[in-house]
Amino acid sequence: MNAHAYSIKKLNFKYDTNRMILNDLTLDFKKGQITGIIGPNGSGKTTLIKNLSRILQPDSGELYLFGKDLAKYKQKDLALTTGVVFQERDSEFQFTVFDIVMMGRYPYKKKFEVENAEDYAIVTDALEKTNTYQYRNRYLDELSGGEKQRVLIARALAQEPKVLILDEPISHLDLHYQVEILKMIQELAKLKDMSIIVILHDLNFAYKFCDQLILLNEGAVFDQGTPEEVITKENINTVYKVQIEIIKDLKNNGYHIIPAY
Ligand code: ADP
Repeated sequence: MNAHAYSIKKLNFKYDTNRMILNDLTLDFKKGQITGIIGPNGSGKTTLIKNLSRILQPDSGELYLFGKDLAKYKQKDLALTTGVVFQERDSEFQFTVFDIVMMGRYPYKKKFEVENAEDYAIVTDALEKTNTYQYRNRYLDELSGGEKQRVLIARALAQEPKVLILDEPISHLDLHYQVEILKMIQELAKLKDMSIIVILHDLNFAYKFCDQLILLNEGAVFDQGTPEEVITKENINTVYKVQIEIIKDLKNNGYHIIPAY
């Protein structure tokens, strides 16, 4: 059994300009673990996950998904393996929430095959898990940013992927849902052996919820390892140009990361 969900070697990528955006990235994303990607704005986080989900093609390098060359996956097999929730959302406004979440089941369907009771059960479960069931008959553009975000996570859950890739999934959520969604992600990794790749801005959440972290800086891997190894005063100061304090939380056996003004 392959221990890695994704494994990439010397990945290089640039948009049509000559500026290299991803520089020689060599990374492993472990199966059944939560790997957080952190780094300042513009460091290449979204570009990296677009390469992982094959929305963008690398200029050079090797990309493997469960040991198989990513380029060799049929589109349908890729959709069955990897679910992606991006920040941008555009074309789906004319659909109801229920229909959008049902779209997560399409990779499982043959041409003209209609949804069955199992699909309905899975979609209902995804709506309930994200607390969006009450919006099921509404249109996406009638919802708030945070509600939309939860609906798109529900669609990815209905897809039942082996790897779930999330681009800042909690950016529009209030504190309650930030914690709820992160706990749910943790449960998926633990109970369903799902591999999670998640871009997070909040270093405290990254520290608490991720098994592994990748710190990107200017398109290169600055550091990778456990949260304890990666979130150090020195790393954060060098990459984010800000001083932090890491304070031990004796009560919860964790840490608080706070900027030191
Ligand atoms: P992050 O997600 O870490 O904020 P991005 O991956 O979005 O970073 O962007 C990395 C770099 O690539 C930035 O300098 C950004 O301006 C550039 N970039 C992003 N998208 C495009 C694009 N479509 N065309 C050209 N450059 C882009």
